[in-house]
Amino acid sequence: MRILVISDIHANLTALDAVLTDAGEFDAAWCLGDLVGYGPDPNECIAKVRVLPNLRCIIGNHDAAVLDQIDTKTFNLEARQALEWTKKTLTESSISFLSSLHQKIEINNVTLTHGSPRHPVWEYLMDSQTAALNFDYFSTPYCFVGHTHLPVVYTREEKKFVVYKPTPNNKITLSPRTIINPGSVGQPRDHDPRTAYVIYNPEENTWDYRRLTYNIPAVQTRMADAQLPERHIVRLQAGW
Ligand code: ZN
Repeated sequence: MRILVISDIHANLTALDAVLTDAGEFDAAWCLGDLVGYGPDPNECIAKVRVLPNLRCIIGNHDAAVLDQIDTKTFNLEARQALEWTKKTLTESSISFLSSLHQKIEINNVTLTHGSPRHPVWEYLMDSQTAALNFDYFSTPYCFVGHTHLPVVYTREEKKFVVYKPTPNNKITLSPRTIINPGSVGQPRDHDPRTAYVIYNPEENTWDYRRLTYNIPAVQTRMADAQLPERHIVRLQAGW
């Protein structure tokens, strides 16, 4: 079984299309939130994601903000400007899809959430101490998270805690219990501007982590046309 795992698309249709083309056939798609915010194609990305086979999708903090579930004042100036633009741009149909999303889902052996199992919408798992505390907040062998836009693996074994950054275009075998982040489709922040996604095989417990180049200038042009913040346009090229 092949499950597409994607996160933090952030309204970047060109990156999402590159991922979907490269992924080929898959049996299910799990999306870990933040479909919108920053990028120029929120409705187009939602339209693509909502028809993926056997979709399970989580709400992210940017998705919650455009629904007024979170105060946009809690975001920095540029993120807020992008959210205001997104709010004006979203169709009724897109809003209704985002409104249907949950903060945390358990499916088979896996917990899906955006930020962390402890605080699904907000908490950033940026270090091993915070990650270690979160192992008490899910009961499945695995937990898949997004939010930081940084691919990382946290594994708690009997006597040790292992943290590492996975190697792109390489398959690893997951061992329980693990919290793992596939990276961001639409706005990578690990100084590698390539789009990121994963094919997870639940029978073999394999995590096939992939990075791909895509047409970044095309996205930047659409962002400029929409008068989205310059800082977000620039950072896409550098991957931060
Ligand atoms: Zn995000």
